[in-house]
Amino acid sequence: MEVLSGLGVGLNAVRAEVFRVKPQAALPAAAKHAGDAAAEKLTLRNAISAVSAHLAELSEKAGETSAEIFEALTMLLEDEDLFDTAAAEIEAGWNAGTAFIAAVDSLEEIFAGDDAFMERLVDLKDLAKRVAAHIAGVSLGLDLPSSGRFVIVGEDFSPADTAQFTDAVVGVITIKGGPTSHTAIICRSKSIPAVVSCAQAEGLLDGMEVLVDPVGDRVVVGGDDTMITKAISFVAKSLDPIIPVRANIGSLEDSIQAATTAANGVGLFRTELLYLSENTVPSRQKQTKAYTEILSAAPEGPIVVRTIDAGSDKPVPFLHMPHEENPALGIRGYRLITDHRDFLVDQLVSLEAARVASGREVWVMAPMIATAQEALDFAELARSSGSYKVGIMVETPSIAMALGDLSGKLDFISVGTNDLSQYLFAADRMNAGLGALLNPWQPALIRMLAKIAQDSEAAGVSSGVCGESASDPAFAVVLAGLGFKSVSASRSQVGAVRSALSSVTLEQAQQVAKVALSSNNAENCKAAVLDALAKIAQE
Ligand code: PEP
Ligand code: MG
Repeated sequence: MEVLSGLGVGLNAVRAEVFRVKPQAALPAAAKHAGDAAAEKLTLRNAISAVSAHLAELSEKAGETSAEIFEALTMLLEDEDLFDTAAAEIEAGWNAGTAFIAAVDSLEEIFAGDDAFMERLVDLKDLAKRVAAHIAGVSLGLDLPSSGRFVIVGEDFSPADTAQFTDAVVGVITIKGGPTSHTAIICRSKSIPAVVSCAQAEGLLDGMEVLVDPVGDRVVVGGDDTMITKAISFVAKSLDPIIPVRANIGSLEDSIQAATTAANGVGLFRTELLYLSENTVPSRQKQTKAYTEILSAAPEGPIVVRTIDAGSDKPVPFLHMPHEENPALGIRGYRLITDHRDFLVDQLVSLEAARVASGREVWVMAPMIATAQEALDFAELARSSGSYKVGIMVETPSIAMALGDLSGKLDFISVGTNDLSQYLFAADRMNAGLGALLNPWQPALIRMLAKIAQDSEAAGVSSGVCGESASDPAFAVVLAGLGFKSVSASRSQVGAVRSALSSVTLEQAQQVAKVALSSNNAENCKAAVLDALAKIAQE
């Protein structure tokens, strides 16, 4: 029996057949046609009609507002001048697909400066690719199973890919992607058992039966239920956990689901996840509606909303972010303020309207803050936009070293351990080969967390943790012992994290944190903490 090791996500195992997800087909390179320009033009006409017909289908399913956008797009796609420009390219020898993409690209120069048209052009470029794909007979969509029960296996899945997971996806294995990749985050929140960063999964083939065993950090080919690794179980000794456990959400569905758990409010609402496939800037009205629904549905307690964290692994189409050599070190999170201040203001204003409409307690925070000055600027902007508690995420080592400067200026901080690990260890969170450095049990991360908790306390700023590390029940006990005042976990983990934090006293959690702080490597650290927790359970 073959055992493949990786990094487990979740506490439940699943057994099902493998479904290999093929990499999305690439468009063929620009090419000339064989000489028959008339036939090529006919091919182009037919492909445009086919894509228009598909748009009409989508338009019927969409609401009234979106239907108008689809109609406008269809008009642009079927525009005769555009066809003539493409026809001229065909006369010059280019094949139909290449000619149409070139014709649409030429609009960029003609309409430069017309912002409204530029927004439409992004959609039109996407449609041009669909026309070319239709001609080449390739599919640009992700090929996922729609019925049955499958463990899907792929390189890694982008946030847009994971949004397409159907109920037929009962387990996920990725060859790349680390413990903090978006595949891991989404699987944890949807309670889909997963093993990520599993390089040996390259050899898995359609139809093989596999056991996805996340607690054992492994996949067993042909494995059965007797091989499932059991998670350590905590026995709650008090009704309430020693610190509040909130839930992480990214959509209305998440919010509704989180309300069915015992979560004390929401500790991280990732607003960018609403906009990963939006090509046009959502209006204040549209944002207010979405936020009001999500706030109203959320579990009782405060709701911590993060302003847009676009860029790097979370592209948001309407922000038209430039290509960067090192996107994780580039323009992302709060740094969008330079080019997209209007959007940030729109978001804060819409959120204030949603706060009033829902009657909920809202806290707002900005992601990827690197300096105290950025934190102060954000606090000023947020306080001038609404009546919420204001905070920042601590995700960069630089801000972790500057918390003393925030005394009296901020209400709270929330540590994003996913990015903090990435920047502390200089280890790309998307790089499967670096998963070990992104392990939250790394002593250097735990020592930095201890400093953050202490410095926040000294500055009179409340501190919490909302990165994936807080979804690990044993790690959550360490966080409470280090001095954090709340944790926020993936909604599927709220129950387990609450049990762990109800099974110890604060003093016991502090002893456990001491054990973690005295370790000098990740494996020993986790083992020593689990050992200490097992002893406490017997007391
Ligand atoms: C983090 O970095 O830990 C975090 C919570 O933010 P995200 O995973 O969305 O980058
Ligand atoms: Mg982050």
